[in-house]
Amino acid sequence: MGNHGEDLIQRAAKDLINSGCAIALTGAGISTESGIPDFRGPSGVWTKDPEAERRAYRSYQAFREDPKGWWEERLSSPVSLLGDLEKAMPNPGHLALAELERMGILKWVITQNIDGLHEKAGSKNVLEYHGCAFKLRCVSCGSRFKRDEFDLEKLKTENQLPPRCPKCGGVIKSDTVAFGEPIPSDIAHQSLAEAWRCDLMLICGTSAVVYPFANLPITAREKRIEKEKATETGLHVVEKIPAVIIIEINAEPTPLTYEKISDYLIQGKTGEILPKIVEEVKKSRKG
Ligand code: NAD
Repeated sequence: MGNHGEDLIQRAAKDLINSGCAIALTGAGISTESGIPDFRGPSGVWTKDPEAERRAYRSYQAFREDPKGWWEERLSSPVSLLGDLEKAMPNPGHLALAELERMGILKWVITQNIDGLHEKAGSKNVLEYHGCAFKLRCVSCGSRFKRDEFDLEKLKTENQLPPRCPKCGGVIKSDTVAFGEPIPSDIAHQSLAEAWRCDLMLICGTSAVVYPFANLPITAREKRIEKEKATETGLHVVEKIPAVIIIEINAEPTPLTYEKISDYLIQGKTGEILPKIVEEVKKSRKG
């Protein structure tokens, strides 16, 4: 990163300090430094194995048609596409976002990741837009459960699959949102409300091509505030100006960069840039 990057880090720190309601949006890129591959980067899961992407697209349909068969298949090959997520540890990027929350600056993290690393890093206000690999969810009432609350192997042996919801009897699925599956309505609504409420959005390590998540930055960009401005003739006019500062941190430019949804891109690794921003925030607050 050259001087340009350092200037932008200072700018981001200043913008965060001046914000009233900052939120972060994160994607697979924030977890690559924890050893979890992304999907579309150079070593991404889909990039290396396009057939795995086609299989993933069929999974939700398979679940709807035959939840028992879906569970049996899942339990017979429990290897996750993303490796052993349980062993993964948060990296300095996750830790920096947790610290910004403790400082009272960051109000929410809305993540597409299913790895649970924001919570492991200490973030309290996390919305898991695509669910969590360690949870299960009832498709009828939406209740969520820890995966180990169910003895799935026993249910399989006793021919009791799919698991049933202890609250309503509905069919239980993994909490992770499959392709073609709607985003659970509680998370979808709250994420949209936070995107609408915020005045700063920090977008970290996402290519922002997966919808409806990708609508969140667009929603924030559309928000305008009215500002009165005096013209040369002394008349006052009302201008509508963008109400949200949108900052991207990504190894590469993204559609958000090209389409000018973001105000600026700090190009590089989230695990390096986010801690630097936190340091700048601390320095400015002291000074
Ligand atoms: P993506 O794979 O489409 O894009 C990742 C982005 O992160 C790319 O733009 C890449 O340039 C950037 N990136 C990679 N490493 C980076 C780093 N160290 N610092 C900064 N930027 C970096 O991922 P996506 O946009 O999150 O969408 C993929 C979908 O796959 C998501 O919906 C998510 O649910 C799922 N997913 C989750 C995980 C996880 O839980 N860790 C991992 C892979 C995929």
